[in-house]
Amino acid sequence: MRIVFIGPPGAGKGTQAERMIDRFGITHLSTGDMLRAARQAKTEVGCKADEYMSAGQLVPDDIILAVIADRLTQDDCQGGYLLDGFPRTLGQAEALDRMLVQQQTPLDVVLELQVAEDELFSRLAGRGRADDKPEVIRQRLVAYRQQTQPLLEFYGKQGLLVSIDGLGTPEDIFERITAALDALEQD
Ligand code: ADP
Repeated sequence: MRIVFIGPPGAGKGTQAERMIDRFGITHLSTGDMLRAARQAKTEVGCKADEYMSAGQLVPDDIILAVIADRLTQDDCQGGYLLDGFPRTLGQAEALDRMLVQQQTPLDVVLELQVAEDELFSRLAGRGRADDKPEVIRQRLVAYRQQTQPLLEFYGKQGLLVSIDGLGTPEDIFERITAALDALEQD
């Protein structure tokens, strides 16, 4: 299964992603994790990405596209994957579509994890990551609203979007996700 997972920062994508990759035996591709690893290793990509990440801004599309294009062709992605944190802009989504058309590997579903903004803010403020300072959180929420939310319409039009209520215990939410994915497989 090839899945795109979309949701605002703090929605709980990471927690659900771990459960999904266990259940469905697919590879977890988190661009946030990839960029943090690159930053730690002080690669060229990592150094460039750092200034944007520290400000809560999105890294430019060309950087992230280079990272992802390379990753999607690796062996562990051939049995399916969960894209977490990518695409995040319409430009990224269109570029992904082009790559997948070329590889003849269309997406199966785009899952949106929905959580209201006031809830997100209090969750993120309690998390303590370096980019979880209040003004950086605010900027990340703005980036989500302005740059990522338009993807919901983009994928909605393609008939790929399934929205999941992200309020509840991790178990509740995982059940909603698996129910939605099971329903898809039966179609
Ligand atoms: P969040 O908790 O905000 O969803 P992530 O771990 O997914 O965090 O990403 C952390 C940061 O890495 C983002 O704020 C952004 O700067 C950068 N980043 C991750 N994925 C992308 C992407 N697809 N496009 C641009 N920037 C990205």
